[in-house]
Formats: sequence, structure tokens, C-alpha cells
Amino acid sequence: MSILVVGSVAFDSVETPFGKEDNILGGSATYFSTSASFFTDVQLVAVVGEDFPQEHVDFLGSRNIDLRGLSRVSGKTFHWKGKYGYDLNEAQTLETHLNVFADFKPRIPEEYSSADYLFLANIDPELQMEVLNQVTTPRIVACDTMNFWISSKRNALEKVLERVDIFIINEGEARQLSGEANLVKAARKILAMGAKTLIIKRGEYGVLMFSGSSIFAAPAYPLEEVFDPTGAGDTFAGGFMGYLANTGDASEKGIRQAIIFGSVMASFNVEDFSLNRLKRLNYKEIEERYRELKSMTHFIGIP
Ligand code: AMP
Repeated sequence: MSILVVGSVAFDSVETPFGKEDNILGGSATYFSTSASFFTDVQLVAVVGEDFPQEHVDFLGSRNIDLRGLSRVSGKTFHWKGKYGYDLNEAQTLETHLNVFADFKPRIPEEYSSADYLFLANIDPELQMEVLNQVTTPRIVACDTMNFWISSKRNALEKVLERVDIFIINEGEARQLSGEANLVKAARKILAMGAKTLIIKRGEYGVLMFSGSSIFAAPAYPLEEVFDPTGAGDTFAGGFMGYLANTGDASEKGIRQAIIFGSVMASFNVEDFSLNRLKRLNYKEIEERYRELKSMTHFIGIP
């Protein structure tokens, strides 16, 4: 089954201890949809400016990504500039230029409004809500956000959270949103805002999933070379939702498997700048790494 995603399609300027690149392809919806497209069809809703190269549109169109919801308007494409120190888990935002997103009114094409899976990627929560209002009966709604929106549009974000099934954020954002340093306490407070399942991304330390009284902890795939963590969270979400939509299994077992596929996808993405690694990736590599991660985490319990 296909997934509808709304989020940013962007130019990023990124500096890590290992290199620096300006105006490269980025954006939450770009990483999400490319990652999810390995598992299922994706319908993308976003906006770009007239400076956005056709080459990037052609790349997205070459995947299982329907671009009828990608509009091009006059003005400049969203631009994010960020920097990482040796602690690659924490991005430092240097500049955010909303540009064409400032006046964007997402209009969901008629054919998309019956989507079963909806992902509200990191973007202005008011736009997330506008999309949510246009989708009739989604089976699963998942959502991401970031510190920028938690501090600038908290009320709008809380309204979105009341209508979300799965909320996916990183640990810094979980602490900021809940006002709790401890992640278990933070999770309890955030789940009370609405979502049934909360997934907290912890960079190289993996992922924690909270759902009712159940907790699942998954490590990240241990990599020797991490080059650029930008997009890891969106790539995780893409693999996670892509797998869920592919299997249709939203039981706890299905969610746990999807978390491992999400982690595998994120581990590839951080091996290169922008979407370069995802562009070279094939499904056989995904399966191989999935099996490796499974065997790395397997242990025989005490009888
Ligand atoms: P992450 O997966 O968290 O590393 O997301 C990185 C992507 O988020 C980058 O490619 C940025 O273009 C995008 N991004 C950064 N800030 C924002 C924002 N305020 N709204 C929407 N997208 C953003």
C-alpha cells in the first residue's frame, strides 16, 4: 500500500568534521520518500522554487515516487544550513530559510486523499494539520518534528499530536517537548499528548520505542565510517513506514521489525553526503544488513 508524505524538499549546506558541501539535495520529505520507495509506492506533497534543478526532480521520479503533489512556484527552494562536531548525534542549525514554504498551502490531489498511510515529515505543524484535514480515513498517521517547531509553534504541534498514531522524534526533541531529562519519563508525558506509539531516535545509540506499557530498544548498526548524519531520522522513518505499508502488519511484532528496517536504512544514509548512498543502494544490501543486525542483537535467554 502506498504512503502519502508531506515535508520539506530542500537545498542543504552541511559541514561535518569530514567535509563540507553547499546547496546539496536534502529535505525531510526527500530522504523519507527515497528510503520508503525501496519498500512501497510513495506520494509526495511539497513545494520547490524555480531554482530547483530538473535533475533532482528526475531522480525522485525515477523511484516509486509519485510527484503530482510536488509543486514548483516562483521564489527560492527551502534552504537549511547545519553543522556537526565530532558528536554527530546533534546537528547545530546555522540557518533556516523557509522561502517558498512560507506561503505554501498544501493541496492534496484527489487521488491521494484516500491514502492508508500518512507521514507528516518535519515541517511547519500548521502545514501538517492542513494535510491531515484533507486525508479522509488514514489507517496509520505518523509524524516527525524538530526543535525549531517545538519552540516556535508548540500549540499547533500539540494539536497535530492529538491525531497521530506514531510519533517519531530524536532524544533532544523528546526532552525539549516534555521538559524531562529522563527519556522514560519524557516518553510517558509525550504519549499522554495523544500518540499510541512513540519512537525516540538516539543517533548512534539506536532507537527506543514506547507503546502502552511495552518498551523496545534497538541498537544502531555499528558503522566504522559515519560521514554525514543529515537525513538519518527521515531515512529511518522512510524505512520504518515503508516496511509497515508493505506488510500491512501494524502489530507490535510488525512495528519492531519495521524499526529494524528503519535502522538499516538510516545506517546506509550516513555513509555519504546528501542522498548519495541511497542513490547507490540496492535491496540486496538492505536485506544483508538486516540479517547482520538481527544476528548482532540475538541472544539465547536463560531457560
Ligand atoms: P534529519 O533527518 O533530522 O537529519 O533531517 C534533516 C533534513 O531536515 C535536512 O535535509 C533539512 O533540509 C530538513 N530540515 C531542517 N530544518 C527543517 C525545518 N525547520 N523544517 C523542515 N525541514 C527541515
